[in-house]
Amino acid sequence: MRIDKMLANLGYGSRKEVKKLLKDGAVHVNQKVVKDPGHHVSPGKDTVNVHGEEVNYREFIYLMMNKPPGVISATEDSRDETVIDLLELEDSIYEPFPVGRLDKDTEGLLLITNDGQLAHRLLSPKKHVPKTYFAVIEGEVTEEDIEAFKKGVVLDDGYETKPGKLEILKSGLTSDIELTITEGKFHQVKRMFQAVGKRVVYLKRLTMGPLKLDETLELGEYRELDDDEIQQLM
Ligand code: URA
Repeated sequence: MRIDKMLANLGYGSRKEVKKLLKDGAVHVNQKVVKDPGHHVSPGKDTVNVHGEEVNYREFIYLMMNKPPGVISATEDSRDETVIDLLELEDSIYEPFPVGRLDKDTEGLLLITNDGQLAHRLLSPKKHVPKTYFAVIEGEVTEEDIEAFKKGVVLDDGYETKPGKLEILKSGLTSDIELTITEGKFHQVKRMFQAVGKRVVYLKRLTMGPLKLDETLELGEYRELDDDEIQQLM
């Protein structure tokens, strides 16, 4: 990445002001003065100092979003707004993407990062990363459903799911439930309920692996993960 772009994005001034910093010899890369605004630096590898102070810049960004309904979990879409469109990333040095997909109408925890290896680990079917969802189901969810999910249910395409842990929070004309699954098949929660003859009318993801939705985030809001949360994901 160009040093002038990086410093401007980190708030060291406009591109013009950053050029002046460079020209004045205020910027060191790996202890050597760098004056060329086009000089390339690698986050995580090169040490950059401005006026002798080390610049704190990271290779990766980790964001937690409370995904609102109506937006797509993708980096771009020709018709609909995406979760990336909701980020204030103008001129950012980062190019993050959502880790996995939530349906357009699903809300809740979405991790957004540019750390491809972490995304791969979290999404790999071999890792069985647990994800917990809260859902409202049309009709009465029963003990039989709990048993069926414990064994695994057969989806509309013949796939037999791994066991899911179903907990009934409220049962009645509509039921509130929590479901923990360790897979991420397309529309999995909705199709698991379809397999027992029921319909999901509201779906929200609460957790992904060790990460829990920060309930203080309004729909559409996001924040950076703190060090503890990042550590737990590694
Ligand atoms: N299962 C679904 O059916 N939809 C989601 O968005 C996530 C899990």
